[in-house]
Amino acid sequence: MEIRMRMRYGENRRRDKGVPIACDCSAAVLVATSRDPNTRGKLYFSCPYEISDGPGRGCGFMRWWTVALCDKFEKIKEERNEMKQDLDAAKKRIEAQEEKIFLMEEKFEALEKKYRA
Ligand SMILES: [Zn+2]
Repeated sequence: MEIRMRMRYGENRRRDKGVPIACDCSAAVLVATSRDPNTRGKLYFSCPYEISDGPGRGCGFMRWWTVALCDKFEKIKEERNEMKQDLDAAKKRIEAQEEKIFLMEEKFEALEKKYRA
């Protein structure tokens, strides 16, 4: 039985979700506060450049802070579940190895008795 260990915790496998580090123009995102009357005071991650800064500046990236944190929380829960599965698989591998060691020790003792003269 082959059990492959996953060693990719913490990797950002879904760049379109979670807490962003960079926007679509690869600049570090800012946390901004909405001034829209419907969402006034709500925090969001934003491209640091305004589209109005000029041509080629600003990608319009925007993600609500609450949405990003909920995504992050879900991702952490997924990773925890994967780690639990890996831990269970590792425990089974250890049990299998211990069984092998036990059987080898038995064989070794049998051989030792047979050839002890
Ligand atoms: Zn940008």
